[in-house]
Amino acid sequence: MGLLRSSAVRVGTPIFLLLLLTAGYHPLIASLAPYYNLIYAAPYFLLLTALLLSHLFKSARVGMMVVILLVGYTVILTRLQSPLDQGTTYLEYLLLAVALPINLLYMIIVRDQKLTSRFGLFFFFAIGMEMGWCALMVQQFGELSNYLHQHPILVRAASISPMPLLLIVLLCILVCMSTIRLLHKNSIEDHAAFISVLCGAATLVFFNVPFISSLIFSLAGLLLVANQVSFSHQLAFVDGLTEIAGRRALEDELKHLGRQYTLAMLDVDHFKQFNDRYGHETGDDVLKLVAKQMALCDGGASAFRYGGEEFTLLFKGKMTEHCLPYLEALREDIANYPLVLRDQSRPYNDKQGRQKRGRAIDKEPVNITVSIGFADSSQADTPDEVLQLADSALYKAKEAGRNCIKGST
Ligand code: GH3
Ligand code: MG
Ligand code: MG
Repeated sequence: MGLLRSSAVRVGTPIFLLLLLTAGYHPLIASLAPYYNLIYAAPYFLLLTALLLSHLFKSARVGMMVVILLVGYTVILTRLQSPLDQGTTYLEYLLLAVALPINLLYMIIVRDQKLTSRFGLFFFFAIGMEMGWCALMVQQFGELSNYLHQHPILVRAASISPMPLLLIVLLCILVCMSTIRLLHKNSIEDHAAFISVLCGAATLVFFNVPFISSLIFSLAGLLLVANQVSFSHQLAFVDGLTEIAGRRALEDELKHLGRQYTLAMLDVDHFKQFNDRYGHETGDDVLKLVAKQMALCDGGASAFRYGGEEFTLLFKGKMTEHCLPYLEALREDIANYPLVLRDQSRPYNDKQGRQKRGRAIDKEPVNITVSIGFADSSQADTPDEVLQLADSALYKAKEAGRNCIKGST
């Protein structure tokens, strides 16, 4: 599941599916032709499902992106079904091509707030204002529509897209921005914004292709439903602080173990003192560091945050004698990691905060240590019992002076 959530897969999947849709466009349309009402309705069904899920998982910004797509799709269905050179259609098309991606991108920089909050009300008000403003533009400058269609600003590759090249370049820049953001941050909102901006841009660029908006908005709806399902899985199984698997994922794994496995319990030494001395925030950084080192542990180990400053390692198919060198290497790596503490004093504002946080305190780096206890499947009948033995061994490691590894005997 971790691989599925990687930014490379999150970028690659929508692009791959769009290419697949392009390749299978003709047979797909031929097979769907008898149900063309269904084709028009599919984006509503899928996007409303994504909206419901985003509401259930309190993922408000994704919900707002879905609302923007729903509004965009409704505009396409109600205003842009006649040929682009008729009436004010081309002007309305251009306004949508600018407004849709910019609104979507704005959603990734605002703070997450409920749809029913003041910001939510402001959001709906802003969408209404934009629509009103666009309607005014169309009313005032409607006669420009045909002029723009026949004399596009800069060049227009009419065989590919009805859109002026300048606007295509703008859309490409917006898609690139959302891709970079997703590759860099990889949050659930970045993923949703990438899907929405990419699908919105692809629809508007290839707007002359019949059924394009219904097909691509359906794909966007499907991908956003998957985005929310992946988010709910992440909430349940991934630890929010360290981003490694959480307790629930461990309990799940313990139900499906084979005959041979080793479990190790790991606990940060004197962590309470560390927190008291350097602050909870620095303590959190230490937990992230320990998790990162554990995720790098060789020997096919899976790392879990058990709770607090306790972690678990699971070696499937390996007994203790095979795991010991990996555990020893992990303990040493953590103990030898030079932790450079950052300034924790409260900044006056964000800018100062960034400058301050970026600067290391002029101090000697500190080190943290961990104690580890382990047991394997030959020592008890059930995984829960093996885990208890590993936990007892951990206490022995603590009693033996910490920063060491003890097995269950
Ligand atoms: P020992 O060497 O015996 O393990 O001592 P200890 O101080 O590490 O153990 P103790 O159980 O007394 O304290 C654990 C501390 O871990 C207390 C709690 O404040 C801290 N802690 C638990 N979860 C978190 C967390 O998510 N973030 C931070 N910063 N601290 C946490
Ligand atoms: Mg503890
Ligand atoms: Mg501890």
